[in-house]
Amino acid sequence: MATLTLATQAPAEPGGGAPAEPEIFASVQGEGPSAGAPMAFVRLSRCNLACVWCDTPYTWRFEGDKRPHRGGVAFDRHANQIALPVAEVAAHIRALGQRRLVVTGGEPILQAGPLAELLEVLDDMTVEIETNGTTRAPPRLDIRIDQYNVSPKLAHSGNPGNLALLPERLAAYAADPRAWFKFVIAEPADVEEVLALQRAHAIPATRIFLMPEGTDSAALRAREGWLVPLCLAHGFRLSDRLHIHLFGDTRGT
Ligand code: SF4
Repeated sequence: MATLTLATQAPAEPGGGAPAEPEIFASVQGEGPSAGAPMAFVRLSRCNLACVWCDTPYTWRFEGDKRPHRGGVAFDRHANQIALPVAEVAAHIRALGQRRLVVTGGEPILQAGPLAELLEVLDDMTVEIETNGTTRAPPRLDIRIDQYNVSPKLAHSGNPGNLALLPERLAAYAADPRAWFKFVIAEPADVEEVLALQRAHAIPATRIFLMPEGTDSAALRAREGWLVPLCLAHGFRLSDRLHIHLFGDTRGT
């Protein structure tokens, strides 16, 4: 059976200490259209982008990766990744006793083959997947996805536009009623970029969330203060980041 590469719940201890646990956990969804709903989460490792404010750099910014990140930390790949057979990942998820699953990352669709196998094993679970919108799920995976949470990365992410904003992908997600768009906003001017993408790809305003950038409650609250009038002006929805308020910026939440 295929294997999946997951993030670890905490970095593995050097020198062969306690074995690393995969980042599989139960919590309430913190963002987007399902916020507040009880979920099982599985976090896959690796990403094809490099956002300067990424709150999960331990999924991609491994030692030797020189791409900028505001934390400046390079992570030990072996301490922060764990490869497990699909059946074992499924057993971990089943043990949580939830009916709904969030597949997150990193960019989970990079592991489309084994991920499709996993979701076939978990064939009675409702599945939402979080993607940066640059990838496409092949049919075997796509058929198991009930909801796409698409988070295209704007210029302030630091990614080149030709890597982060792929017109054919954005148009395909815009045309898919399962897809919700969640834009991370750092400054009011970022919303101009959202409006341009909305026009270019015919994204329905009712499926667009504006979400404040921030990894602490004070930063989120400050940005939400000016995001509300922008949501009212353009018919967008506001997404908070509940897990930050509840648990802080920690793994496994
Ligand atoms: S796309 Fe997501 S996981 Fe990848 S670097 Fe950006 S914020 Fe992090």
